[in-house]
Amino acid sequence: MIEDKNQSRTSLDQLGEFGLIDHLTQNFEINQKSTIKGIGDDAAVLDFKSKQIVVTTDLLVENVHFDLSYVPLKHLGYKAVVVNLSDVYAMNASATQITVSIAVSNRFPLEALEELYAGIETAAKVYNVDVVGGDTTSSTTGLIISVTAIGELEPEDIVYRSGAKQNDLIVVTGDIGAAYMGLQILEREKEVFKVNPQNQPDLDPYTYIIERQLRPEARKDIVELLKKMEVKPTSMIDISDGLSSEIMHICKQSDVGAEIYENKIPLDPQVISTCEEFKIDSTTIALNGGEDYELLMTISQEDFPKIKGNPNLTVIGYITEKARGMHLITRGEQAVPIIAKGWNAMKNEV
Ligand code: ADP
Ligand code: MG
Repeated sequence: MIEDKNQSRTSLDQLGEFGLIDHLTQNFEINQKSTIKGIGDDAAVLDFKSKQIVVTTDLLVENVHFDLSYVPLKHLGYKAVVVNLSDVYAMNASATQITVSIAVSNRFPLEALEELYAGIETAAKVYNVDVVGGDTTSSTTGLIISVTAIGELEPEDIVYRSGAKQNDLIVVTGDIGAAYMGLQILEREKEVFKVNPQNQPDLDPYTYIIERQLRPEARKDIVELLKKMEVKPTSMIDISDGLSSEIMHICKQSDVGAEIYENKIPLDPQVISTCEEFKIDSTTIALNGGEDYELLMTISQEDFPKIKGNPNLTVIGYITEKARGMHLITRGEQAVPIIAKGWNAMKNEV
């Protein structure tokens, strides 16, 4: 479906490791005050004064986490950065630096890595983070990317998964389920392409959900919005594995229960129509689909007037005492226990 449009192919062997690193990192800028030394020495040097630091890392493996037959390398680079920044924002911190490590086989020409790094560079610009280091090595088969993100915040601003209290409101940002349905479309088109490479798929009805899968954004804006509104969530987590498993993490670590309302879950119209087409229940997808990178948080009832009416924030339920367990209240007003299926389990099923 997505062809290799790179006509020129420069072998990585021609550059050597150091030439390659220099070439790929030549455009990276340093914009953060806390970056004293970036790429180029044995280690980066950072100075955060009295701030607290958050550090998070993710590893992406070809054919486990991404499929290059339909994921453009530029998008992959962008997404590899975004998924890490999302974890920084979920701590209510601001992201400042990243490191990028890659293992790559000589099946990839230089031009492919340039695409990957163009995506990394764009994400670094959009989110204003400095790329301050990494590592480059060879792989015998697929591509492996590991990104580490660093962020800073005032000690009093930190938000853990463990702070949710009884009666707090459960709030989700944006809409959910779209990235999973986007993946279903991409997988379907890949199968069609195998059988009939001439087929030109009409992807217009799916642009939003495909974009959510291939080029997700992290909610930096929400951390800034909450600060402006003077709302500090009592707990927060990013939605990488699906709403139900994230709610379970918050409940478990906060020692509480939860009730969420099916009719409050924010869904994009494209998710609803694509679910109808695939004959699957959109609530199941919202609960169990992954990779939306929205934020799930709990806020004190007192803060409700501050967030009320904000289109970015939807109240979907509230925190109960632990003994009441975790339930979804359906449109038919039935209480169904929430169970985590998570992302991988889901993938095997559909
Ligand atoms: P070392 O031998 O100490 O591991 P390298 O030669 O691997 O050093 O790295 C040289 C510099 O380039 C370091 O600052 C390192 O962090 C940076 N670097 C190496 N690989 C990458 C990469 N893929 N992306 C960004 N920076 C990198
Ligand atoms: Mg190295």
